[in-house]
Amino acid sequence: MKNLYLIIIALAAGFVSCKDVKKNEVNIYSKRHYQVDKDLFKEFEKRHDIKVNVVKASADELIERIKTEGKNSPADLIITVDAGKLYKAANEGLLEKINYKEICETLNPVLLDTNNYWIPFTYRSRVLVYSKDRVSASDLSTYEDLVSDKWKNRILCRTSSNAYNQALLSSIISNHDEKFALDWANGIVKNFARKPKGNDRDQIRAIAANIGDVAIVNSYYLGLLISSEDSLDRKVAQSVDVFFPNQENGQTGAHVNISGFGLLKNSPNKENAKLFMKFMTSEYAQNFYTNNSFEYPANNNVRSSNVISSWGDYRIDSLDLNKLGEYRIKAIEVFENSNWN
Ligand code: FE
Repeated sequence: MKNLYLIIIALAAGFVSCKDVKKNEVNIYSKRHYQVDKDLFKEFEKRHDIKVNVVKASADELIERIKTEGKNSPADLIITVDAGKLYKAANEGLLEKINYKEICETLNPVLLDTNNYWIPFTYRSRVLVYSKDRVSASDLSTYEDLVSDKWKNRILCRTSSNAYNQALLSSIISNHDEKFALDWANGIVKNFARKPKGNDRDQIRAIAANIGDVAIVNSYYLGLLISSEDSLDRKVAQSVDVFFPNQENGQTGAHVNISGFGLLKNSPNKENAKLFMKFMTSEYAQNFYTNNSFEYPANNNVRSSNVISSWGDYRIDSLDLNKLGEYRIKAIEVFENSNWN
């Protein structure tokens, strides 16, 4: 019996050291494309002597690739900018539950996956950015109110194929129903200042150019304009302000979405993946994010950067973020049936 134990211990030790030597890496399949990520990955490599390999593509492409690679997939973690896509990956059976208490207990509980398949590291709100000259904050209230006649020819937003809009519409379906969401989408189109085009930053620039008055955009894009090296963009940012919708009692709170990781079932480097998640949710990395990408930190112990905390506190929609995945197909259908192209 004693010998058997020794053999088991020797085998286990051999396995671990062999794994350590062979796999001193972590493989990330990421939808994100920001310089801040690159900088943080480098810092992780320096601290842990673990090479970070990154494959970038859209979340749907990454999910397909992981499915095709099957058991031989080198991917350890998938990173997306949308809880809906992580829900999809979990639903397709690609993810392993992450029961890392020491990570999760530092994070904002409203943002956590109730099924433990993914972990958030930053979040953003889809806010209303408005012209300081032509709009009074007291005229703004909810996403729902943007269909009212007073906003005719004044609303700016990108196309309906955009994942941020699909997530927002998923939340509207979940908070109301499909019929309401279709009427809402058509009501917004009726009030558009122009045909949807460009990215979120372009909607804010269009306010400064007097094309429209209120843009539906992700919060960090305004942070990026405010701190831009381009003086024109900084000027654009000076002409607008932020409004967090749906804040009154009985209203839902502002729509938010996360950037997060899913740990892949066939991950060959799970320990490294865990270290990576721990680093990315650490106070160091979270401070780096909020001060450079102007996203909100998911870690409760980290204060938002001065730029974004100057917009004030707000209540976030406490909707289970998996609903953004659950209603995604419906949201795409609603957009297809609407006049929002
Ligand atoms: Fe973005």
